Amino acid sequence: MNEPAPSLPRRRMKITKVEPISLFVPIEDEIDAPVAVPHAADLTDVIFSGYRATLVRIETDIGLCGVGECMVRLAPTATRAVIEDIASLLIGRDPLDREAIWELLFGVMMNRGHNRGFFVEAISGIDIALWDLAGRFLDLPLYTLLGGRHHERLDAYASSLRFRALDEVTAQARGFRDAGFKAMKIKIGRNLTEPQLDIEFVKAIREAVGDGVRLMVDANCAYSEDVATALHVGRAMQEMGIFWFEEPIAPNDIDGYVHLADNLDIRIAAGEADFMSFGARDFLRRRAIDVIQPNISRAGGITEARRIGAMSRAFHIPYAPHTGSCSAVCLAATLQFAVSLPNFLTFEFMQSDWSKSQPNPLRHDLLIEPVEKLVDGYMEVPERPGIGVDLNMDVVDRYRVA
Ligand SMILES: [Mg+2]
Repeated sequence: MNEPAPSLPRRRMKITKVEPISLFVPIEDEIDAPVAVPHAADLTDVIFSGYRATLVRIETDIGLCGVGECMVRLAPTATRAVIEDIASLLIGRDPLDREAIWELLFGVMMNRGHNRGFFVEAISGIDIALWDLAGRFLDLPLYTLLGGRHHERLDAYASSLRFRALDEVTAQARGFRDAGFKAMKIKIGRNLTEPQLDIEFVKAIREAVGDGVRLMVDANCAYSEDVATALHVGRAMQEMGIFWFEEPIAPNDIDGYVHLADNLDIRIAAGEADFMSFGARDFLRRRAIDVIQPNISRAGGITEARRIGAMSRAFHIPYAPHTGSCSAVCLAATLQFAVSLPNFLTFEFMQSDWSKSQPNPLRHDLLIEPVEKLVDGYMEVPERPGIGVDLNMDVVDRYRVA
């Protein structure tokens, strides 16, 4: 018979403070819409007028602090206000109880029409900060808490070749290839009535980089009102050997996705728009997509993304996490999450910011020590506690919204 295990001293923390920090960096120069979302040209001044994020800092009674990020594409103070209103639910709780806290927070609004959008983005940032705290408490990288490393390093692709003059784009594509990238993504969807122009654009990039580079295309829902064009473009991409066709149509058009998936051999990718596990369940069950791409800072944090990871694996669908134009905090947390996914496919490593003349400082300057390291086309995943970030508070204060 085994000896009874000695009782261990109970180690507990308590949350003492939840601080949301809204960041906004105005883009000073006039830019064209960098993607083909419907009505892109009219929306540029609103959506693409600046880089945004809302960070969450959670402090504890033992002096440890965790950091998370809420994805923000509009009104960073909206997610901040949500966090301020629900912060009292966290004070005094043990941050290690992160999944119980997630359910508590989700319960605030689940029957009030806010089971997506700003509210879920707010709890995503809180959840990431709690997982970061758990890692710091145990002095282990987040991926160890998630079950361990499934990959030595992460396959990565350069994101994204945007709508610019063709010679500029082909030069940039060669630049990505020469920097070691073995894969890159091209924005398409600008020419709704002349899709041939987009097809020729992709062909020219293929010729510029050669056959050895994996290419994906991303329409950012451009063909939402015209599934037939999505099908036409998808077939052309298929013939060119493009690896995936991302967000051809609107995120809620599940029947449209099923139609495309049934009629195309090229992989259909989607999921950055809003999936929680409930949304992912419906897409997976109907085999509407071939690659799932939720962003941890929007889809419900690590807790919810992990559920999506397990569910997508059960459907044999790979997970290619979206990072897009998020800050370095989301990027760092996503690296940790991605390496813990058995069905991880490839990592979105943003290389082109919305404004050429004004790169995103929230991506490039926010951390004291950057986490990103590309070696031979692969991302390394750092061995640091939690998500492995220390904020540069000078940069935070420079862009903090009052
Ligand atoms: Mg996309």
